[in-house]
Amino acid sequence: MKILEKINPDVNAITPYEPGRPIEEVAREMGLDPDDITKLASNECAIGTSPRALEALKAATVEAFRYPDGGAYHLRSKLAARYGVAMSQIIVGNGSNEILEFVGHCFLSRETSCVFSAHAFIVYKLVTQLFGAHQLEIPMTPDLVHDVEAMLAAVRDDTTVVFLCNPNNPTGTMADNDAIYRFMDRVPDHVLVVFDEAYAEIALAEMPNTRQYVHQKRNVLICRTFSKAYGLAGLRLGYGIGPEPLVSALQKARQPFNVNLLAQQAGIAALDDDEFVARSRDVYRQGKACFEAACRELNLPFIPTTANFMLIKVGAGNDVAQALQQRGMIVRPMAGYGLPEYIRPNFGTPDENERFVRMLKEVVCRSGE
Ligand SMILES: *Cc1c(COP(=O)(O)O)cnc(C)c1O
Repeated sequence: MKILEKINPDVNAITPYEPGRPIEEVAREMGLDPDDITKLASNECAIGTSPRALEALKAATVEAFRYPDGGAYHLRSKLAARYGVAMSQIIVGNGSNEILEFVGHCFLSRETSCVFSAHAFIVYKLVTQLFGAHQLEIPMTPDLVHDVEAMLAAVRDDTTVVFLCNPNNPTGTMADNDAIYRFMDRVPDHVLVVFDEAYAEIALAEMPNTRQYVHQKRNVLICRTFSKAYGLAGLRLGYGIGPEPLVSALQKARQPFNVNLLAQQAGIAALDDDEFVARSRDVYRQGKACFEAACRELNLPFIPTTANFMLIKVGAGNDVAQALQQRGMIVRPMAGYGLPEYIRPNFGTPDENERFVRMLKEVVCRSGE
């Protein structure tokens, strides 16, 4: 097609993101019953959706003929109250991924560069590529933690954005409060620091205090999501918190009705469901103990996690993921994240975890013969 000669070369160079595979798709391909398949591949909530959110969602369906509130007034005021900031400091997105894209619209171009860790969320790379900015991918420490010193050293005069994910996906590691403080102490003020905190509410270790930098009106944006802690990944709802002038700038890149009506109502209700979040965190603690015990038994190295997933060093990550999938267990191979020796299962229900461990034993013992 002749039109494709005109495609934006920065867009054309992108290899589309490969998400964790849906259960239906794998079932069709493998000739399995969907009910016999377990998916531990996308860090989704192990205990489903917040019941309060579900209830609000059902009640809101009759309003689906209406446009949503373009300013997401109720959701943003509730978030603002929760975080002790003004409503004007909150921006909502169609998933927090969309917030990352707003950052690109505002601050990334061919004349700029962007810093992030080598084994970090793929979307940072995608957004950087989308706007033709230079990628400065920084190796992590041997323990697969962000190397904040190296990230600082990598900042150039043309750097406008640093993405810092805590707990980091896919490593599950956390740069602690001291490391973040040292970073913020020295990062130049021509750089926006994006703290991606997708797992904050369910983190299994203390989160660095990033809110203080918002209050200090530093160049920071905290990104959070309803996808993980509240089990609303399918609705696509995330938000950013930052100083007012920064958030106002980002609002210019946002389309009027980017967050749908159902997501807004579910999000408002979910914020009242701390009990659900606490319950899921307990399930993740159990999951972590279960996976760690299995790894020790099988002599498989793993990265101690602070999130609801765990990197396990299995050797040939792709082969092991494939063998698990043939048994009806979907996990994520990590070659796309530069970690070809690892898989990254997330924690499920106790039954799902047990099933994973059983299958992992089968697969690993077999390949070791
Ligand atoms: C899951 C995840 C997100 C959330 O994305 P949504 O678009 O809100 O679903 C963001 N960042 C990281 C690192 C994640 O793992």
